[in-house]
Amino acid sequence: MADCPGVLHLAAMADGALARIRAPGGRLSAAQARATARAAATLGSGVIDLTSRANLQIRGMSEGAGSALAARLSAAGLFVEGPADRRRNILLDPFSGLDPEEIRDLRPLAAALDEGLRAAPWVGALSPKFSFVLDGGGRSAVAAIRSDVSCRTTAQGTMIIGSGHVLVEAADDRSCVAALLAIAQAAAAAGPQTRARDLDPADLTSALQAVSGLRQATEAGIARELTPRFGLVSQRGSARVALSLPVPVGRLDATMLEWLADVAERDGEGWMALAPWSAVVVWGMSTAEADATLAQSVGHGFTPLGVAERLTVVACAGSSGCVRAQEPAKELGREVLELAAAEPWRLPPAPVRVHLSGCRRGCAGAATADLLLLGADDAPGWSAHRAGSPRAPGDSIGRRGAMTAPELIDLLAHRVR
Ligand code: SF4
Repeated sequence: MADCPGVLHLAAMADGALARIRAPGGRLSAAQARATARAAATLGSGVIDLTSRANLQIRGMSEGAGSALAARLSAAGLFVEGPADRRRNILLDPFSGLDPEEIRDLRPLAAALDEGLRAAPWVGALSPKFSFVLDGGGRSAVAAIRSDVSCRTTAQGTMIIGSGHVLVEAADDRSCVAALLAIAQAAAAAGPQTRARDLDPADLTSALQAVSGLRQATEAGIARELTPRFGLVSQRGSARVALSLPVPVGRLDATMLEWLADVAERDGEGWMALAPWSAVVVWGMSTAEADATLAQSVGHGFTPLGVAERLTVVACAGSSGCVRAQEPAKELGREVLELAAAEPWRLPPAPVRVHLSGCRRGCAGAATADLLLLGADDAPGWSAHRAGSPRAPGDSIGRRGAMTAPELIDLLAHRVR
């Protein structure tokens, strides 16, 4: 994929120009969802990707459509003028604020960080790849997702983590935001491509020295594993529930997003949260409404719950959207999910994860999959790998040409477990 698109800064892809929309904290009101859906239908091909960092991407636009999109999304509160638009890479737990297990609701912190980035005079010098993850200690464990800098709450306090290392503990939201911004500013000062991992430890220490309310961390950090949740999820202090609907291989279309907006407005609290595990979460539904919506969702193009709980399929855009790909990753991923829904007996008994990646760049995510199918830049066909990720595929368990959905599921059932 071309370098980090935004609303105005479009990326040229095989299926047209692509825009990336960063909804603050991954939250989208029904009106914002509708504005995005209508923009995708009129300015693009109608295809909308939900990325592994919970952003939305409109595909199939014309090269000069960025200004028209910016005007629409600015009115909807989804675009900010200037360089901050492409640098508000803030991933927040989609259940933040409702998870009974959460230690701290980090929604105010996410809003303050977003505001801080928009106001920062240095933000244009920050790499558009620089990312933040905010984890309030809830069950989703979003801190497991790789980022430049993250904030993670435990029973002991809120830790600031840079490139996987606990740096300090923050006393409150204010010091936490200040610490996250100080690290980003140090990266921006070091050069436009600089990431947190490139910073010298001495630079990090001096950047944090100027922030009040920080103390030495009492924990070395505990490894977390991302825990996707689908279906009905209890809400803290409420008889109502959230409904997490699985989006097949992270691909929506304008009609699906409009339907979600209708559901959120009619049965929920009027908004939704985007999850980094290919799901959209609608908050505040009654159990009966959530059950009825879940039953209808398959007819609207969402993956059946029984399939999503047993089979995770992530796929990059593949040959229909990316010139580097030789194989149709997205389409094959969708066919696999459809086959699994029609013939669930084909699936292995334990939950499995499949990743289809057109090349080692791994645009759909970096997590290890039980079965990785990796394409080559220079030849058609897939190579299959057990327990691999695009950048660390490990040994091949066979090189194959084009693959069909039944072949992929057979491989999963007989060679992976
Ligand atoms: S991972 Fe897929 S979408 Fe990304 S560059 Fe490679 S082929 Fe293209």
